[in-house]
Amino acid sequence: TVQNNTIESIGYNVYLNDSLNELANFVEQGNYSKFFILTDEYTSVHCLPLVEEKFAGKTYDLIEINAGEENKTIDFCIGVWKMLIDFGADRHSLLINVGGGVVTDLGGFAASTFKRGIDFVNVPTTVLSQVDASVGGKTGIDMDSIKNIIGTFTQPKAVFIEQAFLKTLPSREILSGLAEMLKHGLIADADYWEALKNSDLSIPSTDLIAQSVIIKNRIVISDPTEKSHRKALNFGHTVGHAVETYSLDNDADHLTHGEAIAIGMICEAWLSVKKNAGLTEDGLNDIVKVLTRFYPKYKVKESTFGALIELMKKDKKNEGNTINCTLLKAVGAYQINQICTEDELCESLKYYAA
Ligand code: NAD
Ligand code: ZN
Repeated sequence: TVQNNTIESIGYNVYLNDSLNELANFVEQGNYSKFFILTDEYTSVHCLPLVEEKFAGKTYDLIEINAGEENKTIDFCIGVWKMLIDFGADRHSLLINVGGGVVTDLGGFAASTFKRGIDFVNVPTTVLSQVDASVGGKTGIDMDSIKNIIGTFTQPKAVFIEQAFLKTLPSREILSGLAEMLKHGLIADADYWEALKNSDLSIPSTDLIAQSVIIKNRIVISDPTEKSHRKALNFGHTVGHAVETYSLDNDADHLTHGEAIAIGMICEAWLSVKKNAGLTEDGLNDIVKVLTRFYPKYKVKESTFGALIELMKKDKKNEGNTINCTLLKAVGAYQINQICTEDELCESLKYYAA
């Protein structure tokens, strides 16, 4: 449901054009007592000025966290809670998250728990957070190297997507978000997958971003708390999360989320063929060709496979002792809850590493 470039989600709107003016309206019209803006060290430089312009006349307190996944922790969350207390936040305060997925996840979590929940809105400033993290109501932080292990389902009051932010985003970060856009095509829309293959993606167009948000939103609305269909969005993430966590702990220049998910999508596409989920050999080859073009091969060493499998077993997506994947029936169609054995997962990593 896109009307006037607005997508309706679960009780809130995602604004896609002229969205910072929509933010200004929101701030003006909402009955908020105080405003807080959460940024990280880079978005306070690159993105805050654009937001500030629209804030004329309103005062706010700024809360800044360190940038990067390694800071999506309880310590920074406590820092946010503490600042909210020190600045006198009450139940009618609004937290405005201006940043990538780390800021929107951590800010959403901090807001959803502060005084049993205060309102927050997301102003996502990376491709990844625009097409994925800022929509769908998942908030959270990492702990003990397990991503998003602590969190809540809490919907933002609105999301404001502004393509202008992407101008300052490093190309590696653009590519990170592109992996989720490609994933949306692979699980839900073959035409969108084709469109992405044939577009200039150096800065994805608002239209391509919108299509991605629409796909994610449609899936999330059908299953807000991930009982079934929402698991489709986990395609590439069973293997990908393990690779990402491992890299975060072991590599000085660690993989981005999207780089890890691209690896996971290759492994899980291979599993889709191997386990007869429906994807054809040609489909697999097409996926591998496109993904390796965008994400030149990162080496996954065979000596790490054991550790990766252990990480997959710890994945919060599992139920019981089995490792589950979302597999592809075809490009544009998925099958959830496919149990994969450790051997199969190991073989898929071998296929990728070969
Ligand atoms: P990020 O928030 O770490 O941002 C990446 C980097 O880009 C950071 O250094 C940031 O400071 C910088 N940056 C952000 N916007 C910028 C801009 N406009 N110009 C210049 N620099 C900018 O990472 P991300 O990739 O946006 O998000 C990853 C996080 O999102 C992960 O923690 C992941 O778990 C989470 N996530 C959540 C969901 C969800 O449903 N809640 C979905 C997917 C991912
Ligand atoms: Zn992801």
